[in-house]
Amino acid sequence: MIAVYPGSFDPITLGHVDIIQRLSNKFSELHILIAESSEKKSLFTFEERSKFIKEILVQNKNVFIHCSSGLTVDFAKKIKADCIVRGLRAVSDFEYEMGMANMNKKLAPEIETYILFASPQFNFVSSRLVKEIAKLGGDLNGLVPENVKEALKNKGY
Ligand code: ADP
Repeated sequence: MIAVYPGSFDPITLGHVDIIQRLSNKFSELHILIAESSEKKSLFTFEERSKFIKEILVQNKNVFIHCSSGLTVDFAKKIKADCIVRGLRAVSDFEYEMGMANMNKKLAPEIETYILFASPQFNFVSSRLVKEIAKLGGDLNGLVPENVKEALKNKGY
């Protein structure tokens, strides 16, 4: 089975990494799709976000990284994916994820959305909060991978 894991990954956190590690051996191919959000202005470019993920997942031979500013379902169809996977942290994610899953179902009925619950140790971790903590000089240990920590420092965070 081929899966697509879409997201902004701006930047990737240990919560995302946990989802990727837990999923990668369940699918023959896991395609991470770094998407441009029309609503959120990104801190890191596509190239930067993609480089962080490549460095972290270099050992995972069935994980592939792509960038897109188009529809996730169009990408999924193009690579003949069977499903889209998303992570769910809390009830606050639920409505958004349900709306997105239903819209994707309408656009591409043959592609299912699979939802994986965040591991308890990461269910409070978000890219948005990580950026806020970095900006205010907080400790990022246990929240993001080392390369992201360095990059946030280099951005003057
Ligand atoms: P988006 O901008 O599309 O919400 P994100 O980059 O924030 O994308 O996240 C991509 C996916 O990973 C989403 O389904 C999100 O709920 C999930 N996710 C984000 N952080 C975590 C975490 N700490 N644990 C598990 N899943 C997460």
